[in-house]
Amino acid sequence: MSEIISRAQAIYDRIQNALTLAGRKDKAEFVAVSKTRTVDEMHEAENFPYIGSFGENRVQEAEAKRRIYGTSRITWRLIGHLQANKARKAVELFDAIDSVDSIELAQRIDRIAGETGKVIPVLLEVNTSGEASKSGTAPENLPQLADAVMQLQNLRLDGLMTVGPITESEAEIRRAFASLRELAESARTRTGLSLPVLSMGMSGDFEAAILEGSTMVRIGTLLFGAREYR
Ligand SMILES: *Cc1c(COP(=O)(O)O)cnc(C)c1O
Repeated sequence: MSEIISRAQAIYDRIQNALTLAGRKDKAEFVAVSKTRTVDEMHEAENFPYIGSFGENRVQEAEAKRRIYGTSRITWRLIGHLQANKARKAVELFDAIDSVDSIELAQRIDRIAGETGKVIPVLLEVNTSGEASKSGTAPENLPQLADAVMQLQNLRLDGLMTVGPITESEAEIRRAFASLRELAESARTRTGLSLPVLSMGMSGDFEAAILEGSTMVRIGTLLFGAREYR
């Protein structure tokens, strides 16, 4: 068995254990965060049946890799900040955009999707930690953003996404994830949409996220090893 597959199995077991610990009978999707990874590494990860998608954070890198990857069962998700001038490429390349954080960006994606006859599944990214370095809309702007996005015919609003705070404090991490869950609950009431997806939890904090209701964890380092930026 390859290293990547055995790590994937260990992560999957931890996901299942966290769901059990949380008393949950639903699932948490396992997104393999493949930024900086080679196509060979990604093919290996695809051999693990419970990995359903790749998460990429840069449009150009994803473009280069998707061109040579070949056909596959895997969904490609954009998880990094999207600049307006890359929106067209992103709509072409990705099966889902998880980092929508402004009305302007949502409208642009919608317009381009409409031109190409696509409906793009999206998540709204929220900055739950208040850290200045993080992208995502401020929690207080979420209602407005959700109201605007649900009007757009070529976007399908599936839920919310966040990146946890950089801290050793388990309590602080849990609080950020709990706040995303609460924001989703209010947004459901407000919009009448089911908003089933809560994308939260990475290598260092995915169990905490699952305990707070995450339905989608995004794992890079723990699956592929430490990243080297070239
Ligand atoms: C890089 C990245 C991840 C994965 O982080 P790891 O700590 O390597 O698991 C998850 N989500 C986003 C948005 C990222 O940019």
